[in-house]
Amino acid sequence: MGIPAEERYSRQILFREIGTEGQARLAASRVAIVGCGATGSALAALLARSGVGFLRIVDRDYVEPSNLQRQTLFDESDAAESLPKAIAAARRIKSFNSDIEIESQVADLTPANVSHLLAGVHLLLDGTDNFETRYLINDFAVSTSVPWIYTAAVGSYGVAMNILPGESACLACVFPDSPTGAVGTCDTSGILNSAVNLMASISAAEAVKLLVGARSRLRRTLLSYDVWTNEHAEVSATRPRAGCRCCDRRDFIHLAGVGRPHITLCGRNSVQIHERHRPIDFAELSSRLSPHGQVRHNDFVLKFLREPYEITLFPDGRAIIKGTTDTAVARSLYARFVGT
Ligand SMILES: [Zn+2]
Repeated sequence: MGIPAEERYSRQILFREIGTEGQARLAASRVAIVGCGATGSALAALLARSGVGFLRIVDRDYVEPSNLQRQTLFDESDAAESLPKAIAAARRIKSFNSDIEIESQVADLTPANVSHLLAGVHLLLDGTDNFETRYLINDFAVSTSVPWIYTAAVGSYGVAMNILPGESACLACVFPDSPTGAVGTCDTSGILNSAVNLMASISAAEAVKLLVGARSRLRRTLLSYDVWTNEHAEVSATRPRAGCRCCDRRDFIHLAGVGRPHITLCGRNSVQIHERHRPIDFAELSSRLSPHGQVRHNDFVLKFLREPYEITLFPDGRAIIKGTTDTAVARSLYARFVGT
């Protein structure tokens, strides 16, 4: 037997601005979280424990030991099994809240699948680590008038902004072009788990306000906070910017995906390849690869180790190749061992 909602959520229902009615609204809410690393883990855990009725978790990656310092939904056995994060996250969430629905999508969000993967939800949450995907979410959100929340953290520093299409500024209003140059990533600048959990908490609170209908309480600024220096700032994002490519000109270049590469750098010393779009038979490929290196697989991933490279394959043919940042090397490894 499940836990009665009035008991499970009693402390949240006691909070007057949520109450029984707000709790019922949360139960009827549908949210998609794109990316389930540190930010996505924290967002998913908070919203699942709050009783959001449906969560779709979209993530392209698998759990690794270096994730455990900050990605709170995963444990050592997930890393040992190289479980896809979307699968491991759903398993963990079901262990503490079996009353809500979790949908796992092991996929890289692209212009080709965005309208499918982000369909049918009231709110989109950003747990990604890159601007390319954020601009894609932004284009989809503005073009379909679905709100989304931008959340990012690196080093000791994080930022968050609510995007309410037609009401407040969008990501392209504030950052017309992706910040380049001196921008750090978790792979180069490291990250404090406290910084990422702070920003995820702030965004989860904004999500709950939006879902229970407390729109007047929503923050309409770009907020930044550094947990190490205690510096914090807010920049007004109240209105869409006149001339914004997205809000004003409705030119959704990221949705169109013109010239988007099938091969991308993906974290430190690894390359993602996604150009095959044909399902892979893991058992068949395992026996074909075993003379060439160490190979193991489960239902979700196949790992092929051939020093100094490690190829991780997903059932749809997508691969993450570790041990190089040279896309030509990655492509030739893929062609040789997986086939095009
Ligand atoms: Zn805009």
